[in-house]
Amino acid sequence: MDGTGDYELDHIILTRDAINKRVSEIAASISEEYRGEELIFTGVLKGAVIFMSDLVRSLDRSVDAKMDFIAVSSYGNASTSSGAVKMIKDMDTYIEGKNVILVEDIMDTGLTLSYLREMLMARGPSAFRTCVLLEKPDRKKVDSIMDYRGFTMPDEFVVGYGLDYAGKWRNLPDIWCVTKR
Ligand code: 5GP
Repeated sequence: MDGTGDYELDHIILTRDAINKRVSEIAASISEEYRGEELIFTGVLKGAVIFMSDLVRSLDRSVDAKMDFIAVSSYGNASTSSGAVKMIKDMDTYIEGKNVILVEDIMDTGLTLSYLREMLMARGPSAFRTCVLLEKPDRKKVDSIMDYRGFTMPDEFVVGYGLDYAGKWRNLPDIWCVTKR
């Protein structure tokens, strides 16, 4: 994909209603596990921003939710993830002895998630969970433990609800498949 506008929206794969319902269910499970406790939601920029914003607002109010962000980029081109991940922005919170939940938009090969997991686990959180909106099981290369999952989906490129193609379409409330013009 070259980002020259050669892709267009094809069809909706997940509606806003289906997403909202699933986000509420995940929030209920997290609330049950962390009722009355502090939990540091760490979103992977930029794709997880909208998912995480909805997720934290659906939590039980007894959860002491904090928000932080991390940004990474993978070396090589976007469609063939090499596994080498470069840190662009670290989180600000000191997480030793704290409960952390890493919030990611998509698990494709799983390489990003396993890199971040290893890096954050080395900081000694008392609990570490991962929460991913979409999983593409067909593309999976590494066994990356996922504690909370929104949906599994086929190996298609999707945009909307925070996900972009060349910076575009993050604002769409539904999740769409794109197609070549
Ligand atoms: P992984 O390291 O699991 O292979 O890559 C995960 C990252 O690739 C996601 O966080 C996301 O940025 C990107 N990605 C993978 N599949 C898609 C997709 O269908 N749409 C978009 N917009 N990004 C994707």
